[in-house]
Amino acid sequence: MLGLMQPHALMISSLLTHAARHHAAGEIVSRTHENTTHRYSWADAERRARRLVRVLQGLGVGEGDRVGTLAWNGYRHLEVYYAAPGMQAICHTINPRLHPDDIAYIITHAGDRVLFVDVSFAPLICAIAPKIRDTVQAVVMMCDAATMPEMTLAPGMALHSYDTLIDAAADDYAWPTFDERTASALCYTSGTTGRPKGVLYSHRSTTLHAYAIAMPDVLCLRATTRVLPVVPMFHVNAWGIPYAAALSGAGLVLPGRHLDGASMAKLLNDERVTFTCGVPTVWFGLLQHLRMSGERLHSVQRIMTGGSAAPPLLIEAFRDEYNVAVEHGWGMTELSPVGTYNAPKPAQAGLSPAEAVRHMLKQGRILPGLDMKIVDGAGRELPWDGVAFGDLKVRGPWVTCAYYGDEPGSALDAEGWFATGDVATIDPDGFMEITDRSKDVIKSGGEWISSITLENIAVSHPDVAEAAVIAVRHPKWDERPLLLVVPRPGHTVDPESVLRIYDGKVAKWWLPDLVLVVADLPHTATGKLLKTALRSHYGDIYANRTT
Ligand code: AMP
Repeated sequence: MLGLMQPHALMISSLLTHAARHHAAGEIVSRTHENTTHRYSWADAERRARRLVRVLQGLGVGEGDRVGTLAWNGYRHLEVYYAAPGMQAICHTINPRLHPDDIAYIITHAGDRVLFVDVSFAPLICAIAPKIRDTVQAVVMMCDAATMPEMTLAPGMALHSYDTLIDAAADDYAWPTFDERTASALCYTSGTTGRPKGVLYSHRSTTLHAYAIAMPDVLCLRATTRVLPVVPMFHVNAWGIPYAAALSGAGLVLPGRHLDGASMAKLLNDERVTFTCGVPTVWFGLLQHLRMSGERLHSVQRIMTGGSAAPPLLIEAFRDEYNVAVEHGWGMTELSPVGTYNAPKPAQAGLSPAEAVRHMLKQGRILPGLDMKIVDGAGRELPWDGVAFGDLKVRGPWVTCAYYGDEPGSALDAEGWFATGDVATIDPDGFMEITDRSKDVIKSGGEWISSITLENIAVSHPDVAEAAVIAVRHPKWDERPLLLVVPRPGHTVDPESVLRIYDGKVAKWWLPDLVLVVADLPHTATGKLLKTALRSHYGDIYANRTT
């Protein structure tokens, strides 16, 4: 027997219409390309998104068409986030930090019909125009007519100014309702190997994810929150905040392209931001600026860090010096992206300050709606004892089942689980902790060593700014850890003193065989350590070792 409740489909547009109707004055602040401040409300955003649908229709975009964006976090980007899916097209966010060849590949693979491009990426789009001319029919620069850059595209590609098109469009569009499983957005994973692969979200998955991340034990978004996502809208949907902020009526502060410590501190204080999210690199930049300038944070209560492991130093420094709580979450493109969040249970109430930092290194508990497990090499489930580590698998309504263009279900195992490629422990309270990417774990004499654990300890050394531990081939042990460290500006690192800080923290056989001091480390386009490059460079450094 079916229930007798109204069968309303979960529509992304309904998040925006809710914000416009019930939080009409809720503020959206954007730092523009010219470093000025643009302000408007959820009601304005909804009205302009309707106009943008008319613009898209005028450009020939129809249902199922892909609309690409190459843009920083800003209000025009937000309008595309809602207008494209609202008319049953697909908002395809593209990471401008990728190699231009990868960007051209992604645009062609996705078959983007129209591209919305920030002024800063004008040279990039001109450079790749000949490679994407078969799919892209129009490029819309996200600026007004006066700030249109000088550009030469490929023959046949039209060029427009966003504001000129919007100003001429009618706002008579009425948001339609359709199957909630309809595709809404597309984002390519920027893996460290192979070609990027597309993850295709739906109205249903995106709406459920927005409800889940807004909850108190996750991002805790409220109408009184002023949230600043530093995490980019061009990758992993800015962790879903553009949708969840509308759902909760939170004020939204979009930082544009200036993400250095000084710009961040100014924006956080000027706009009375209470909560902000981003990767550790951004928080290190902010911390360094605050320490050097003596500036304080006046309104920020919580900083969420994710995308790579939370360094203990960051958690400690913000808590002890600035009275700001650093919270830790984990996710991936394939999960829309948030999967776990570290919010305390009653058992964590009595932790000492040092224990609390150690606990916050865990990536956290699974969001309700999803499930997770860890398995050994033979696929057998491992215990939740906080010690056993194995491949992390997840499932749920906002986890992908196949990459764009592949058969539904092709990314899953026979029981419907998605293998994340991460290696993790889960403790008896259900807190998951990533110990590695499966391809980065060090297999020494048949036992596994966690590279992330070794890196976290290395960066607690006062002279170390950044650390990478990689598996290096070894004639006797198969693989052994090599530690590379980057000194803090103005410091020198003594390799022996780095090894000494491991005393009592890990088993002796986990100790890196060698510590190399390097000027910098390579990163992927999403800021993660590029360990493949390090492995190919240092892969034979232990070739002549016998012990
Ligand atoms: P992406 O799809 O680009 O967001 O990358 C997802 C991957 O980033 C995950 O599979 C993890 O390997 C890594 N990652 C994300 N969040 C964290 C975190 N909090 N700690 C450690 N690794 C993380």
